[in-house]
Amino acid sequence: MRVTADYHTHTVYSHGRGSIEENVKAALKRGLKAVGISDHGPGHLFIGVRGGGALRRMREEIRTLRRKYLQIDILFGVEANIVDLDGKIDVPEKMLPTLDYLLLGYHKLVRPRSVRAFFWLAANLFCGWLKLRPAWLRRLNTAAICAAVRRYPVAAVTHPGLQVDIDTAELAAVCGERGTLLEINSSYGEKLDGYVRTALPLGVSFLCSSDAHTPERVGDFAAAFALIRRLKVPVERVVNLQADDREKQEE
Ligand SMILES: [Zn+2]
Ligand SMILES: [Zn+2]
Repeated sequence: MRVTADYHTHTVYSHGRGSIEENVKAALKRGLKAVGISDHGPGHLFIGVRGGGALRRMREEIRTLRRKYLQIDILFGVEANIVDLDGKIDVPEKMLPTLDYLLLGYHKLVRPRSVRAFFWLAANLFCGWLKLRPAWLRRLNTAAICAAVRRYPVAAVTHPGLQVDIDTAELAAVCGERGTLLEINSSYGEKLDGYVRTALPLGVSFLCSSDAHTPERVGDFAAAFALIRRLKVPVERVVNLQADDREKQEE
């Protein structure tokens, strides 16, 4: 198997360790044809991109790097947070057209957009700590994520079911309708088996990514490949994956 693009990488603009340029260089070293920079949206209390100007600065930096590194596509994305029950995200509306693509992920500890959202996020935090999975909360979570997928042009939902209890089948159905991908995230490996197993028979397509927080991990798909083999996910269901005869040498 071979992946030619990694669309989920973080930099110092959120809580990654490398600069955008270091991620680009790492992607080139791995032989990727495209790399996406997708830092956490500004609504995260601790790890989001800081200040409204950060996204604009990132876009400018990426424009400059595109002129320097012509041999690779450098894309500007965001891993947006869901901040309300109606699916609203934390990326300013006017920034959306300036992005090359939008990722969507549920993360704890984001700034809620309403009082109801505050109680919803708090309920997820407490139920997570107490290892409770009430059906009413699962319904709210699923409805919020599905609403976001319907509301925005979401390219892929990152690490579905991580940090939040959802009805994967319902999310996969909505993503299938909207052409939104579900991510096979190489930073979480076996934790994501359950969701892939549920989503697989439902016809939705997948995106493989590293979720690298250091340049060294850009293009590292080892755990995703292991999951794909373990669950026998057909190569053609993963949009950035190709069958490759050179597999043996590459590993
Ligand atoms: Zn994430
Ligand atoms: Zn991420």
